[in-house]
Amino acid sequence: MSLLITGGTGYIGSHTVVELQALADDQDIVIVDDLSNSSTKVLDRIKKITGKTVTFIKADICDYDAMNAVFEQHDIDAVIHFAGHKAVGESSEKPLSYYYNNVSGTVILLRVMAEHKVKNLVFSSSATVYGDNVSPLNEKMTTSATNPYGQTKLMIEHILFDLAKSDSDWSIACLRYFNPIGAHNSGLIGENPNGIPNNLLPYVAQVAVGRLAQLQVFGDDYDTVDGTGVRDYIHVVDLAQGHVKALQNLNKISGCKAINLGTGNGTSVLEIVNTFKEISGQDIPYKIVPRRAGDLAAVYANADLANELLGWQATRNLHTMISDTWRWQSENPQGF
Ligand code: NAD
Ligand code: UDP
Repeated sequence: MSLLITGGTGYIGSHTVVELQALADDQDIVIVDDLSNSSTKVLDRIKKITGKTVTFIKADICDYDAMNAVFEQHDIDAVIHFAGHKAVGESSEKPLSYYYNNVSGTVILLRVMAEHKVKNLVFSSSATVYGDNVSPLNEKMTTSATNPYGQTKLMIEHILFDLAKSDSDWSIACLRYFNPIGAHNSGLIGENPNGIPNNLLPYVAQVAVGRLAQLQVFGDDYDTVDGTGVRDYIHVVDLAQGHVKALQNLNKISGCKAINLGTGNGTSVLEIVNTFKEISGQDIPYKIVPRRAGDLAAVYANADLANELLGWQATRNLHTMISDTWRWQSENPQGF
């Protein structure tokens, strides 16, 4: 039996593959990725960490024939579906590309899965589906989205709920991630954004390593501890372990279940900057600029359900998250 990981050479996918291979009864892993936002170099790094190899297939999830061939050639029994485009700003510039890649790609994947009677799925959703609900965010809250990227996650969630309602054989964990940061503690794999990073941590890391001159802090007049935006940062290895737990507990999920993966704690932009400065020993110049359109003051999880249902909770603190980010960035200043 094999496990299919779509988007497995990406940031969260690669860390999840490492955690899956660390299990005593690890399954064969098949990665499908079109390399639109990742590199095959990650495969050598994974092998260095785990001593194990994976099967890699370069394919686009939107390509029905290619996906069908994957299921014909491998005895897949479950899928973790990471593949998708994820840049919020770009999604407003190229909405069709996002709806096609993320939504149509997922429908094609689900169709092929159903045809091969593979009905176990873990899906990468996002806390963005909570719209402007007030934190702490729990899974019973209403959902909404404010940009095409968020809409794709919401649409996929609706598709998954409808699918599970139509056929009770499906077991689907829809994992709503908060803000993944950090890297594997080997320093061999980590986040490797293309171009100028959109997210806070890769931006700060690139300022610390001298690739970027100065951080722009988007607003210091929010109603938060120091006026800057607060988010629930979660170590990517904790997140990866959440996927392992979700997979192991899929049999307890009948239908489709939305589950938050966060820590429940909020950290401000300036707290991040100061901790990064302290750990790296580097200066991190920053300038306060106006708020970024669409940003909320504070976004953090109620993480109780993941604990109750999956026996999972995040264990790595902010110090570990930032130390691991810095190790990855300083040892790989230009990424892979
Ligand atoms: P990533 O870009 O590093 O990984 C995604 C991978 O999917 C990349 O390797 C890319 O090449 C691949 N891919 C994209 N479109 C594809 C297609 N059509 N066919 C095959 N492969 C394709 O991103 P990540 O941070 O690892 O995110 C993984 C998933 O988690 C995404 O679905 C993302 O939306 C979701 N997510 C990420 C975050 C975050 O902050 N990183 C937060 C919430 C949700
Ligand atoms: N942020 C910032 N400067 C940046 C990038 C982000 O001040 O260059 C702030 C942003 O306003 C938010 C926090 O950092 O308060 C996290 O932003 P990110 O884009 O990483 O995550 P998201 O807002 O999508 O949760």
